[in-house]
Amino acid sequence: MIKSLLSIGSMTILFAVVICQPLLADQAMSMKDSVQVEDTAMLQDVRLDIIYDNYPHPEGEITLWGFSCLIRNTQKTILFDAGDQGDSLMANMAALGIDPKIIELVVISHDHADHTRGLGRLIPESQSPQVILLESFSSELKEQVKVLGGKVVENSKSVEICPYVFTTGEMQGRATEQALVLQTRGGLIVITGCAHPGVVNIVKCAREMLEGEILLVMGGFHLLQHSREAVNGIISELQDLSVKYVAPTHCTGDIPRQIFKDAYGDNFIELEIGSTITLSDLMDEK
Ligand SMILES: [Zn+2]
Ligand SMILES: [Zn+2]
Repeated sequence: MIKSLLSIGSMTILFAVVICQPLLADQAMSMKDSVQVEDTAMLQDVRLDIIYDNYPHPEGEITLWGFSCLIRNTQKTILFDAGDQGDSLMANMAALGIDPKIIELVVISHDHADHTRGLGRLIPESQSPQVILLESFSSELKEQVKVLGGKVVENSKSVEICPYVFTTGEMQGRATEQALVLQTRGGLIVITGCAHPGVVNIVKCAREMLEGEILLVMGGFHLLQHSREAVNGIISELQDLSVKYVAPTHCTGDIPRQIFKDAYGDNFIELEIGSTITLSDLMDEK
C-alpha cells in the first residue's frame, strides 16, 4: 500500500493512499492484497443517519434541497456533506438529538452549495473538525473552511480517512466528486453525494479499490434527466455488480427512485430526513 504524509498545520497525519482512477491493474492488485483482512477486523457496526435531504419525514424536520449524512460507530464520527442552509442543518440535528460537537471528520463530496454551504454553521458549532476536500475544489471553499476554524485536508487520490473508511478520491463528472466507501463485515457500503461521475462508475471504483461485495449504495444518484430505459440500464449494471441494497435519495429524481424501488423490491431502502440505517439491519440481525 502506498502511504503518504499529509500535514495539517502543526498536525501530521499518516494516511494510507490508494489510487482509484485511473487504476492500473497492478495497482488494483496491490490494493486488494493489502486490504485482505479478517472480517473481524472490518467495521463491526455502522450507523448512518440522514440529517439533510429533500425527501421529508412525514412529521417533518426542515426539508430543503441538499444532502447530509452522519456516520457513526466508526473510529471517528464523520459527517458526509453538510447540506445547504446551515440553520436548517442545525435544526435537524437538534431535532434528531445529534450534538454537532461529536463530529470529528467532515467529508465533502463535491463543491456544490447544496452539499457545502451548511459548513458555515456547522464548523463553528462543532470542535474544529478536519474537513476533507478535493484539491480541485474552489479556493473560496478551502479558505472559508479555514476561516471558520476547520482543518482543511486536501486529497485527490483515495485515502483511508479512518480505519475501514475510504474516499474514492477525485472522480470526473459534471462536477469532480468523491464518494465514501465503508468496509464492513457485511460488505462495502458506498455513500454518494450527487454521483455526478455516475453511480455505476463509483461502484466500479469501490470494487476496484477494496475486497468485498457491495452491500449498499446510498445517496444522490443524479438521474433526473435520465429516461426510463437509461435508469433500467443503470439498475442492470448495478445488479451485475452484485449491489445488494440501494437507497437512492436527494437528486435521484422521483421517477428514477420509483423505478429503483420496483426493481429492487425489499432491497430498496426509502430514505428521508431522520432515516437511520444500521449494519445489523442490513444483515437482518434485529
Ligand atoms: Zn446535490
Ligand atoms: Zn451536485
